[in-house]
Amino acid sequence: MVEPVVIVHGGAWAVPEILWDRSIAGVKTAALRGYKVLQEGGSVVDVAEAAVISLEDNPVFDAGTGSVLTFDEQVEMDAIIMNGATMEAGAVAAIRNIPNPVKVARLIMEKTPHVMLAGEGANKFASQYGINEVDKELLITPYAKEELAEYKKYTNTVYCLFNKTEHANPVGHDTVGCAVVDQKGHTACATSTGGITAKMPGRVGDSPIIGAGGYADDEVGAVSTTGCGEAIMKACLARHIVSVMGTGQDVVTAIKSGLNHMETRINGFGGAIAVSCKGDVGMQFSTPRMPWAYVRQGKLHYGIHPGQHIIEDL
Ligand code: ASP
Repeated sequence: MVEPVVIVHGGAWAVPEILWDRSIAGVKTAALRGYKVLQEGGSVVDVAEAAVISLEDNPVFDAGTGSVLTFDEQVEMDAIIMNGATMEAGAVAAIRNIPNPVKVARLIMEKTPHVMLAGEGANKFASQYGINEVDKELLITPYAKEELAEYKKYTNTVYCLFNKTEHANPVGHDTVGCAVVDQKGHTACATSTGGITAKMPGRVGDSPIIGAGGYADDEVGAVSTTGCGEAIMKACLARHIVSVMGTGQDVVTAIKSGLNHMETRINGFGGAIAVSCKGDVGMQFSTPRMPWAYVRQGKLHYGIHPGQHIIEDL
């Protein structure tokens, strides 16, 4: 019997002080939400979806409501969900103006022969299942507008949040994800994002790409990543981490290996959460901060700063 665990993250980046408390509260709520679904008999896919919906609905994070804006002020989001038992996956890329892209990713996994739908096709598919576009103003926060305006002052807008230097005036927020393992050792992951502020219209990041933004295989474990999508894709970060775990390394060593490879070879920064099929859990990040939380054995663990690990009894 495996000790079940649900871990979530709220994005690896510089997270300014003004957002620390709300980010921590958001990841704690999402981890608890996922764990409750598990306790009520939900599958690992149900858990990953529910935890990510909780984060998408929280405007503190860059996913669903709260998504950051493209250069031309649109909301274009990416998401993935993957079932480690079957290795089925569903993903959406550059879907517009819906509150919960992870729901569409799951529908693609379960209702179509495809893995990913993008753009207009993804929105059309979603509407067949009653998920219609909403007024984009419902998804846009003042933070997202402020951050786009701030970014437009710089010429190299896209990359400035991803090095270790704090941005001049960071007001934005970040990608979310979940990894879960249940008592039977079944695993799943989900990742959802509005991407990066001031991205080119049509830009798709790592989050919906299998092996980059997420990966789940019951023979090893499940991973959700965050950070510079352009680097994560080149590093195949989620697959790298699962591959290292598959050699028998512990979760933290595997994530460190992936982040180290990404930094040394591509000069990219980010973070990841992971669970193994045996119930090990871990998180690491090479950015200044990453809010994370997990529930395991009646305790809620969380942190946001490097080395911070707080434990509360439930
Ligand atoms: N990986 C996301 C992207 O590049 C952003 C993030 O995780 O911060 O779209």
